[in-house]
Amino acid sequence: MPEPTPPPKPRERAVDLDAGAKPKISVQPVRSRPITEAPSPPPPKAAPPPDGDKNAPRRVPSRPLTPDATATPPPAPAGPPAPRKPAAPPSAASAKPAVRMPHISQLKGRQLGRILIKMGKITRTQAAEAKEIQAKKGGPIGQILVELGYVEESDIQLALAAQVGMEPVDLSKIDIPNEVISLIPSQVAHTYKIIPIDWQPETKLLSIALASPDNFQATDDLKTLMGFNIKPFISSPDQIEAALNRYYPEDKVETINDLIDELAGDEDLAKLEGRGESIDLDELKEAAESNPVKKLLNLVLLQAIRDKASDIHFEPFEDEFKMRYRIDGVLYEMVPPPRHIAMAIASRIKVMANLNIAERRLPQDGRIELMVGGNPVDLRVAVLPTMFGESVVMRVLDRSNVRLDLDRIGLRDDELNTVRQLIHKPNGIIICTGPTGSGKTTTLYSALNELNTIDTKILTSEDPVEYDIDGLVQCQINPEIGLTFARCLRSFLRQDPDIILVGEIRDLETAQIAVQASLTGHLVLTTLHTNDAPSAIARLMDLGLEPFLITATLEAVIGQRLVRRICENCKEEFHPTEEMLMELDLRPEDVAGKPFFYGKGCDYCNNTGYRGRLGIFEVMVLDDDIRDLIMQRASSNILRAAARKRGMRTLRESGLLAITEGITTIEEVVKETITEEG
Ligand SMILES: [Zn+2]
Repeated sequence: MPEPTPPPKPRERAVDLDAGAKPKISVQPVRSRPITEAPSPPPPKAAPPPDGDKNAPRRVPSRPLTPDATATPPPAPAGPPAPRKPAAPPSAASAKPAVRMPHISQLKGRQLGRILIKMGKITRTQAAEAKEIQAKKGGPIGQILVELGYVEESDIQLALAAQVGMEPVDLSKIDIPNEVISLIPSQVAHTYKIIPIDWQPETKLLSIALASPDNFQATDDLKTLMGFNIKPFISSPDQIEAALNRYYPEDKVETINDLIDELAGDEDLAKLEGRGESIDLDELKEAAESNPVKKLLNLVLLQAIRDKASDIHFEPFEDEFKMRYRIDGVLYEMVPPPRHIAMAIASRIKVMANLNIAERRLPQDGRIELMVGGNPVDLRVAVLPTMFGESVVMRVLDRSNVRLDLDRIGLRDDELNTVRQLIHKPNGIIICTGPTGSGKTTTLYSALNELNTIDTKILTSEDPVEYDIDGLVQCQINPEIGLTFARCLRSFLRQDPDIILVGEIRDLETAQIAVQASLTGHLVLTTLHTNDAPSAIARLMDLGLEPFLITATLEAVIGQRLVRRICENCKEEFHPTEEMLMELDLRPEDVAGKPFFYGKGCDYCNNTGYRGRLGIFEVMVLDDDIRDLIMQRASSNILRAAARKRGMRTLRESGLLAITEGITTIEEVVKETITEEG
């Protein structure tokens, strides 16, 4: 679906970029709202980056950050705790583990019990006892041994690592050279809980220590992010923690600003500026591989994911290179990197997304998959050649960030009941409508998620496929080769589906097949681009669909918008002026005694006063009277009035409720419901 809609973000699911950070704030459950989440444990505060505000995106619209917070260069990072001798770097293999370990070749691929015996951790009798218990009760042998009290959890980790051929390393006994530490930015080390311990430049082999043999994501991601070959070693969580504190102390974190300074002075990269087509592939590859470029890009990505950005923009202009994030629908500008690294950044992204870096004249699309803090993150990359170089936009699809759950998208209790009844009908058409970025996709997916059971066949045609959901058959439409929504939909009917999702109805042909599908006993979910629910009827007629086909098949239209949620951390009550109320067509007496809120701005919300978004809805259900009006080709205004008489709450009215419940602000509702007619 062509809808760049970042879904409403359940706020308590902060990406666990800073696992281990203590929640620093406690968030009050939002009033007694049926539509909000159940009071949940306070969100792990997406702790401010250890460098405070320096990396915070600069806010473009009003309320600026503290003056120059983004521009002040941080104090020069002090060196590592102790000056290290430039002597031969102690290689990882030379570090002796604390535990008595036979050579790894004697352990790799063996059974866990045998490995533990060889490590001298348990006796044969104990292994046999655990096996006996396992035979009776099942469960992993390691866990049984821990429960029996024969071994510690850390022994199991060590043994499991040995099983997959990872050698142990005792971080407290080695001194890691600065050059090796500097290969991995602090944020990356902290995020993935890893320590680089050895580097072989000829083979690009980086040895790293991790605390769990299951932390394969770290090794995969490092390969993607840094382009290194990775050799993992196992260490204990305590040692990793200690080493992180020693080598990457929180107050010495390399910030985006540090890297930008570093890049500004990079003469090799500066030489590329203004060379345009004359740059050959080798130079381009070299620039893309340069360590500061990689590190900057990694920080930018991690920060964007941490801040729950939906898009990251890299835009070369004649004299500058801009980096911007979109968060909750609003673009924020980052400290601009030097203009001359634009091409290196674009090339690096293309390498990561498996695109052709030699091609610089045609648009390219690709994707990068990462695991950040244990969550899958998909980056959709779109490269567009412009007058001043390649402009790159990355859409962040953080699947952990998306809860496709009807209960949590903002529907009020009564609306939720109505929608549930509608989507459980055996046939009919349900339309979700609103402009681009109004959350339609998320609403329909949430409905599908609820309908997605083993006895239901669901087919979707989308442009693009935004979420992969197990159990759904999802098709990406491709108009270039003639695979349109209409064509997709027609073949769907031969696939014996129960429920069909059509990304969008854009033409009469698609509308007609949707009608046909509904008439032959299928439930069809789809979207339209109109400002509100009643206008959807006029839109279908404009496409050329006969009123009787609409009334025969259409069950309901759900109009929606996303409004930003007030940050719970800095929310304050206030008294709106008469002028503000007038924007909502209200008089002071209309709202007497009702509370109003806004966010003052804090670190937690990047001083925006908002965090996350929520849908507001209007649900127009077609009953006999409204169907009669449609047959008479009644105008949208008449349809709206009739629907309101039957209890439909308009978008503006839903917005008002959300305001007085302290969920959003007057500004948000005015902005999002401005086009509604009276
Ligand atoms: Zn705040």
